[in-house]
Order: sequence, then structure tokens, then C-alpha cells
Amino acid sequence: MTPPGAPRVRSAQNARPARERPLVERAARRPQGTDRRRPPAIVVEKVSKTYELGQIKVRALREVSLQITRGDFVAIMGSSGSGKSTLMNILGCLDLPTGGRYLIDGTDVRDMDEDDLSDLRNRKIGFVFQSFNLVARTSALANVELPLAYAGVDRRVRRERAQQALSAVGMAKRLHHQPSELSGGQQQRVAVARALVTNPTMILADEPTGNLDSHSTEDVLRIFTRLNEESRTVVLITHEPDVAEQAKRVVHLSDGQVTEDRRSVGVHEPPPALRHLKTAHRPPRSEAQP
Ligand code: ADP
Ligand code: MG
Repeated sequence: MTPPGAPRVRSAQNARPARERPLVERAARRPQGTDRRRPPAIVVEKVSKTYELGQIKVRALREVSLQITRGDFVAIMGSSGSGKSTLMNILGCLDLPTGGRYLIDGTDVRDMDEDDLSDLRNRKIGFVFQSFNLVARTSALANVELPLAYAGVDRRVRRERAQQALSAVGMAKRLHHQPSELSGGQQQRVAVARALVTNPTMILADEPTGNLDSHSTEDVLRIFTRLNEESRTVVLITHEPDVAEQAKRVVHLSDGQVTEDRRSVGVHEPPPALRHLKTAHRPPRSEAQP
């Protein structure tokens, strides 16, 4: 036995000749997400979620099992009340399952404490919601800087990265506009920039186009498609079939269970080209025109 701390000495017999960089090169050439040593980004095993409202129990998810590989673009579809938001909250570590297991990048969320979870949410996941959730009376720039401020990033760097993220969603000319001075589509683009600014590997979006007209819906879908082309994992929750068609794989939820799981495009193939939406999306009454 080697005493602790002593250098390990290999006998000449066991010594292997040094390789000339092959391992590194092979790993580098392999497309993202196919690395056999890395677990899938998301592993959901028989996950259940029951809400208890006094005497009443609502079984929002019933033993849902699902794996999502890095770089995939998955739409989760289902009618209202089917459990989509409940699933998204679990995937985003905003809530814990009441049964089953959820592993993110191979780690069981039950083994993480609140600090680990918030750190993970901050670094790995970008969230986008139907209602934008921007801070009112605060500029687009300051809204996008917010996650970086939480992460303790230096003010100057923060500003620079927020500007880049806003440029990436076509909002470079609206840096100092407040949410009330932007249309719904523009507010959602600011929200997408805020989700992107921390450079997350995964985007989780819950009905991100639910409040948008057709034109803005296409803008937002185009951004998600590009994020996926940059090999980010995208999980897009929607009840609209033509929005779901932009994904590589569509998972149907009904009454808290997966009823269908259909892939149209391979994980490492480019996402489907953006099609014109078949159904008209009417702008909500509250949406101000730019
Ligand atoms: P979806 O997003 O597909 O519309 P949800 O995940 O929001 O569905 O809801 C699934 C079911 O769980 C619904 O019956 C809903 O009423 C119930 N539910 C959701 N959130 C809660 C909660 N916080 N407390 C109690 N019941 C809830
Ligand atoms: Mg919902």
C-alpha cells in the first residue's frame, strides 16, 4: 500500500506509453450531447406531483418519465390543466416532486440544498414565462442585468453583457425603454435576453408565445431556434400545435401523464426551418403597438 500523500509510482511493467493527445481530440470532435460519459441533461423517473388543498388532493403529475439529451429542442404540449407548468417548475428546480426522481446533469435534486438549487437555476437555466415577468418602471437594460447582479457580476461587465444579450434578440435600440413603453413581443424579447444573459445551457419556456400575435410569435420562435442551433437545450411548453412544430420532438401531456412522445428531427440535426404559423395569433387587448 502507498502511504497517504506519497507519490504513486507505477511499476515499469504497468506503465503505458504516453498518448499523443488523442483522447482530448476525440472528445472535442464529438458533437455536444453525445458524450457517453455525461448523463442526459434531464432524467425524470416516475415523477409525481400532488398538490394538497385542505382535504382535496390534486394529482397534477402521475409517474411521468422523460429523458432529455443536451442539445435537444423539445415541445411539451397539452391542454390547460394537463400539468405542463407543474412539470416545468420541477424541471427548473422551482418546485420538488412529491414522488419519483429528477436528475439534472446526473445529480438528483433531492441531494441539493437550497443554495445549490438557486446556484444551478442561476447558472444553467434560463426561464421565460408567458407573462414576461419584467420589473415595471425599470429599463430593458436594467431588467436584463438583474440575474448578473444577483450573481455578483461587476457593474461594467454586467452592462456590457446585457447590451449584447439585447442586441442578440434585436432590441439594441430599446435599451432604455421601460416595459410599459414596449409592445408585448418586445417585452418578451427582453425577457428572452434576460434568460440568456447568464449563458445558460438550458432554456425553459412556459407558454412564451401565449400572449403574442403571430408576428411576435415568429420572432420569439426564431430566437429559440437559433439558441438551439447554438447547441443549447430548449424545452418549450405550449398548447399550440404550430408552435410545437418548431421543436425536434413533441411530448404530449394529458391529465398529468405522457400520452405521446414523437421525434421529427434528430437531436444533433438543425431544428426545423421556421414555418409561417397556420393559425392566427391575435394580439391581446392590452398590447401596445411600438
Ligand atoms: P397546465 O400548465 O398544463 O395548465 P398546471 O401544471 O398549471 O397545468 O396544473 C395542473 C393541475 O394542477 C391543475 O388541475 C391545476 O389546477 C393544479 N395546480 C397547479 N398548481 C397548483 C397549486 N399550486 N395548488 C393546487 N393545485 C395546483
Ligand atoms: Mg400552465
